[in-house]
Amino acid sequence: LNRRLAEFGTTIFAEMSALAQRTGSINLGQGFPDTDGPEAVREAAVRALREGHGNQYPPGPGVPELRTAIVEHQRRRYGLSYDPDQEVLVTAGATEAIAAALLALLEPGDEVIALEPYYDSYAACIAMAGGTRVPVTLRPAAAPGGESGQGHFALDLDELRAAVTPRTRLILLNTPHNPTGTVLTRAELAAVAELACERDLLVITDEVYEHLVFDGAEHIPLASFPGMRERTVTIGSAGKTFSFTGWKVGWITAAPGLVAAVRSAKQFLTYVTSGPFQYAVAEALRLPDSYFDGFRADHQAKRDLLSAGLAKAGFGVFRPAGTYFVTTDIRPLGVSDGFAFCRALPERCGVVAIPNAVFYDHRDQGAPFVRFAFCKRTAVLEEAVARLTSLA
Ligand code: PMP
Ligand code: GLN
Repeated sequence: LNRRLAEFGTTIFAEMSALAQRTGSINLGQGFPDTDGPEAVREAAVRALREGHGNQYPPGPGVPELRTAIVEHQRRRYGLSYDPDQEVLVTAGATEAIAAALLALLEPGDEVIALEPYYDSYAACIAMAGGTRVPVTLRPAAAPGGESGQGHFALDLDELRAAVTPRTRLILLNTPHNPTGTVLTRAELAAVAELACERDLLVITDEVYEHLVFDGAEHIPLASFPGMRERTVTIGSAGKTFSFTGWKVGWITAAPGLVAAVRSAKQFLTYVTSGPFQYAVAEALRLPDSYFDGFRADHQAKRDLLSAGLAKAGFGVFRPAGTYFVTTDIRPLGVSDGFAFCRALPERCGVVAIPNAVFYDHRDQGAPFVRFAFCKRTAVLEEAVARLTSLA
């Protein structure tokens, strides 16, 4: 293994899912739903396979039906217009979108600012592209509403501004944010946009949890801010939005020059994205608002169930504003090493979680935080809570 990748080892998700299997534990580690997405969308995939849509290499940018559906979705949800022929690229999940965008846009030595803790592929892909990551740490803060026992992870805009140097090429943003569940506010996004324009930076914005924002909050795409459309690569994923993580269909929307650049990298990574699923995802994106509303309400209820359960079990709980993860602080349980805690948890009570420290360069900052996924059936969450409550 070369020096660029040597520090990364095996992803925590593979390690923890294997541990869950080995110990027969409830897996609240890796974020994947335990219920598949809509039946009609599955049927659309079967139909595409049977009728021979996409069984041979589909077009490089993605099948026209899907690119059109992505454009319609961005217009319907956010009022953003994109040209399906020049401003959309279908990718093998958001993971490939992140990799291809970084490989296409970075020169060796370029600096990339990323919000820490960050999704694990960011660091590895920045490294593969020869870039240097510059983390800006989200820090625990009191909840905006000041509800007792709650908090969130806050972005310090001064720190973000101070992180920009003459070598900074781009900001890699993620909102709603994995693993903290933070949703950047309109004011925070406006400040990021202003900074990007002022310092002439590109932004790759990972918005795969765009449909998972709670309590009536709205997801605001960074590309909708003044001056941002031409410098922003926006990433979405059918895995998250339609609960088909195994299909690996993602996409980017961006200005023509940026899409062309990302396509140049994508053509040598996967060449094209798996065909039949693209037709099915095109249908999924056209589902009525009631699908998206139901999806959100369902996860909000699950968030509430797991957050309350974890609090009752003695964890410090950062009730998330978005995503399907809840980050906890284990110090109220009398321990502070999240790694050791997560490695022992399956034996202690049959539950698997993820130590947030893996998402940090400053590992000490992340040490006491542990992430639980709530994209699981209610009965599974209830059983997990019962098991975790037995810890105390
Ligand atoms: N970005 C974030 C923030 C994620 O949480 C995930 C998935 N877990 C991805 C990207 C990757 O998405 P996909 O499965 O579509 O590759
Ligand atoms: N994104 C999911 C998570 O954060 C898992 C994706 C993966 O396993 N690579 O849990």
